[in-house]
Amino acid sequence: MNHSISKELFAQAQKLIPGGVNSPVRAFKAVGGNPIFIKKAKGAYIYDEDNNQYIELINSWGPMILGHANEMIAEAMQKTLENSWSFGAPTRREVEMAELITQMMPSIEKVRLVNSGTEACLSAVRVARGYTQREKIIKFSGCYHGHADSFLIAAGSGAITFGTPDSLGVTQGVANDTLIANYNDLASVQTLVDANQNQIAAIIIEPVAGNMGLVLPEKDFLQGLRNICDKNGIVLIFDEVMTGFRLAKGGVQERLGIKADLTTLGKIIGGGLPVGAYGGKADIMNCVAPAGKVYQAGTLSGNPLAMSAGLAMLNYLNNTPEVYQNLENIGEKLTQGIKKINEKMGLNYTLNSIGSMFTLFFTDKKVFDFESALACDLDLFGKYFQSMLKKGVYLAPSQFESLFLSIALSQENIDHILHAHEASLKEIL
Ligand SMILES: *Cc1c(COP(=O)(O)O)cnc(C)c1O
Repeated sequence: MNHSISKELFAQAQKLIPGGVNSPVRAFKAVGGNPIFIKKAKGAYIYDEDNNQYIELINSWGPMILGHANEMIAEAMQKTLENSWSFGAPTRREVEMAELITQMMPSIEKVRLVNSGTEACLSAVRVARGYTQREKIIKFSGCYHGHADSFLIAAGSGAITFGTPDSLGVTQGVANDTLIANYNDLASVQTLVDANQNQIAAIIIEPVAGNMGLVLPEKDFLQGLRNICDKNGIVLIFDEVMTGFRLAKGGVQERLGIKADLTTLGKIIGGGLPVGAYGGKADIMNCVAPAGKVYQAGTLSGNPLAMSAGLAMLNYLNNTPEVYQNLENIGEKLTQGIKKINEKMGLNYTLNSIGSMFTLFFTDKKVFDFESALACDLDLFGKYFQSMLKKGVYLAPSQFESLFLSIALSQENIDHILHAHEASLKEIL
């Protein structure tokens, strides 16, 4: 497989863009080698600048759940373009979008549209702070909520000490207000709550975590968080940027039957264009300006072109319930097939999956939080990734990511992936 044009572009990009990419995971640092530059995509396939074809298992980290260049979404955008595509004034589509979101996600009574998942999460935390008049938040080790300062925090040295900055440029002052708990560990949350009585504004969590590889909440974990929040007047924020409109129409909240106070959305909600949203209980959302005193704004928020793509996507998902059964079936076939091959080849592995998301971890230990995810054989994962790429399967270039399936995957594609998987294991084990 020839990657010479991608190589040239990356060399050029590194002179002009920090690390050659506009978001770090794209750089292939975790798997070695050069990133491939994508030229186009259709359905389940992407094509790089050297005209290599790959079956796609990232799907823009989620948004392309219907496959690439979906015609219905393209048509909706084309129709919008005729009437211009940004006004900085209210438009009908924003009302339709809000209506659709509140219908699909019943815990959301009022919603504000923004431009990214990062923006949604940082705004939701600000609103929770404004509503409770408290300053601290609890987040979980290994969960990602975008790149706002408050989230780029690692655990401090003791269980109840405050966090420490996890990025240069984040101040200790900010880190003091973010407390870090362990995923699937209610006791770690209770300890923080007890040590910070009446100071915690919000607990923010990925209710199914996709940013340390896929990690599922154990039975009663989310309900336990719900109870702690209710008892202590804490706002429970579910970050459903990945899972919203994917694991069910109404995300994890519908699938597992637990309601958050605030929910953040992104990825699928824009149909592939930059859209995010946060929303929840009306009395909390009424704190947002101009209704209330928590400031949050955006020149391009509710952008007409982005709204038309998002509306086309959400309308389709809302009116086509068989999409979700379809995704379950594809996920089931792939993960069952992979497990079978793993057993046959004697791979030490853990496979976490739910619906159209899964991660194959290169460890035979259970993966239930960030620390257990770190037990993986990253060297072996890197070899596996490169081998799959050569066989025409484009995986997430890091062990600590989930894969995202689309309904465009055919039985033929699934067979191709499974063959590539078996051949790759033969090469690397
Ligand atoms: C992707 C992601 C974000 C950040 O969204 P951006 O649009 O990249 O800013 C936040 N939370 C979760 C769970 C995500 O997966």
